[in-house]
Amino acid sequence: MGPKRAEMLAKQLNIRSYYDLLYYFPYRYVDKSKIHHIRDIEGDMPYIQLKGRFISFTVNGEGARKRLNALFSDGTGTIDVVWFNRVKQIQECYHTGTDYVIFGKPTEFNRRYSISHPEVEPFRPDAPQQGFKGIYSVPEGLRNSSFTSRNIQQMVATLLAGLGRVEETLPEYIIGRLKLMPIREALVNIHVPESVEKLQRAQFRLKFEELFYLQLNILKYARNRSLSIAGFRFTKVGDCFNRFYHEVLPFPLTGAQKRVIKEIRADMGSGHQMNRLLQGDVGSGKTLVALMTMLLAVDNGFQACLMAPTEILAGQHYITISEMAARIGVRVELLTGSTKKRERDTIHEGLLSGDVKILIGTHALIEDTVAFKNLGMAVIDEQHRFGVAQRAKMWRKNTTPPHVLVMTATPIPRTLAMTVYGDLDVSVIDELPPGRKPIHTVLRYDQHRITVYRFIGEQLKQGRQAYVVYPIIQESEKLDLRNLEEGYDIVREVFPQYRVCMVHGKMKPEEKDYQMKIFAEGKAQIMVATTVIEVGVNVPNASVMLIENAERFGLSQLHQLRGRVGRGADQAYCILMSNFKISRETRHRLEVMTQTTDGFVVAEEDLKLRGPGDMEGTQQSGIAFDLRIANVTRDVEVMQQAREMAAKILDSDPQLAQLPNQQLLRHLQFLYHRQINWSLIS
Ligand code: ADP
Ligand code: MG
Repeated sequence: MGPKRAEMLAKQLNIRSYYDLLYYFPYRYVDKSKIHHIRDIEGDMPYIQLKGRFISFTVNGEGARKRLNALFSDGTGTIDVVWFNRVKQIQECYHTGTDYVIFGKPTEFNRRYSISHPEVEPFRPDAPQQGFKGIYSVPEGLRNSSFTSRNIQQMVATLLAGLGRVEETLPEYIIGRLKLMPIREALVNIHVPESVEKLQRAQFRLKFEELFYLQLNILKYARNRSLSIAGFRFTKVGDCFNRFYHEVLPFPLTGAQKRVIKEIRADMGSGHQMNRLLQGDVGSGKTLVALMTMLLAVDNGFQACLMAPTEILAGQHYITISEMAARIGVRVELLTGSTKKRERDTIHEGLLSGDVKILIGTHALIEDTVAFKNLGMAVIDEQHRFGVAQRAKMWRKNTTPPHVLVMTATPIPRTLAMTVYGDLDVSVIDELPPGRKPIHTVLRYDQHRITVYRFIGEQLKQGRQAYVVYPIIQESEKLDLRNLEEGYDIVREVFPQYRVCMVHGKMKPEEKDYQMKIFAEGKAQIMVATTVIEVGVNVPNASVMLIENAERFGLSQLHQLRGRVGRGADQAYCILMSNFKISRETRHRLEVMTQTTDGFVVAEEDLKLRGPGDMEGTQQSGIAFDLRIANVTRDVEVMQQAREMAAKILDSDPQLAQLPNQQLLRHLQFLYHRQINWSLIS
């Protein structure tokens, strides 16, 4: 290859060596080497050819949801074929009683296979067969220089033709136990499959290998770390904690809160640094747990801090916490980007003298100028909004790193948590405080607007408050603002007897605070807002949330938004508004919201529908998703197998020092040498 092409390949695909090329796998396969039988279809299939006849055609659905279903038979079985558009043309074009060859990817749905939008050709006995090939993804930059998947196919073919010995990457005993395909055969078949069966075995082998090393890396460093990093030992439960518990706490803790506090206390007394993730749905009472944990630090002679992602949220934490802490004589301060210089100086002094016991703030509190006398405990709220570097800074705020509790209301499905936070201990608050009624969620279309407004009107009449939320369309801030302002005008027109306030991200902080304040105090009854209200606002009297263009939001985000209502004892409602013309997938996605209020179910669905790359909270820890072949969403079982195997090996040989495992250590270092430290600070 000429130097110019080589450079492009390096730049665009990171392919610099034979190894890189060998591990650049096709993203899909077309098998035109033979005609398959319907009864043999199983598992994850490539694109295949089937020969047979259409038995029937039926049109289902209407309007945007209209589709054409056909039943296709080849004598060994039948399969469903579906078209979602061009229904009329297709119906005119294909007929029952004629032999066709159809080509497409069978997918499983409701325990039946179907193919959507296949290529259909009349059967010709003399048509030449074309082989079984992999299709490679080629980034636009390369395509523009007329570089195609075929070019990669040819390069790979040349490479495979001259391929000598390939060193095995897994020890014999693993290969034997799991009956894995040997590495050389797997690499050949992943590029140029001999058969569907061999392709599937090659895929399994390579997925397993990838996930196995990922898990081995996570587990190995997590274990080393928990053994090697000393932490402050908090042994005392003192005045602060006890007085708070007996004199201030206005309600009994839920069972889940008690359990979590016990878990945290055990960590903090162990002599090792705590790194714990606290997951709990919106409104499950995480803030309270955080406060009690911080009070334990204070009882043991240390300071504590709580970092929140936005000024609004930090401010709200400050109000709740300082009010309660004042009653037991604990000094709490708030530090954000907009804290005035004078005040800031006083806080700095108080931190150095140890007079300020609890500091609440935004990322302003990890700036280098902020020094503590003796920080022992750090809480990070909505941790997915902070990057690894910011968390690392927190670690350096004391000579021995403080205990770290990260909290999130975006539930992370277990399989993903295993990977993203493989080295964090996880606590879950899976119980809401008593008396909460599940939020009633419905999906409505534009044509229902009048009924929806009437419903909101009834709620307002009963003295409740309402939110109307607009999405942020990132491409155009100006347009967003216009949407929001139009919405504001409409709402004011519809509800002339009520006061309407408006909040968005582009406002000056003072103006935003003012608008929030009048809503929180009940002086305004309706708040029109963008997603800035997603975190932070706590107005128990608000009972309705109307979300406009709900289809533009991710499920987890909708769940977060929804959590802004239902904070009081009254029945709360969430109305998802959408245009009638949304796709089936979108409708299905929104319907998940109407069917459950369980954040974990929502998160699982979100993960299934969007894939892990899009999940909030995963972007910063991108490493785990730099996977070539495995998919953390789909390959859950392989992941579990890989994790169990990795754990078993580390149990018996933690340093990977025994002979067959030395090979593992070498390969691990080869794969991860660039990013070995990441698990230390997540
Ligand atoms: P989160 O941070 O998990 O979203 P919060 O800590 O803000 O939840 O709690 C939500 C609301 O529930 C707050 O008003 C809080 O005072 C209240 N709350 C917390 N724990 C309990 C409890 N055990 N019993 C009753 N109410 C509680
Ligand atoms: Mg919270």
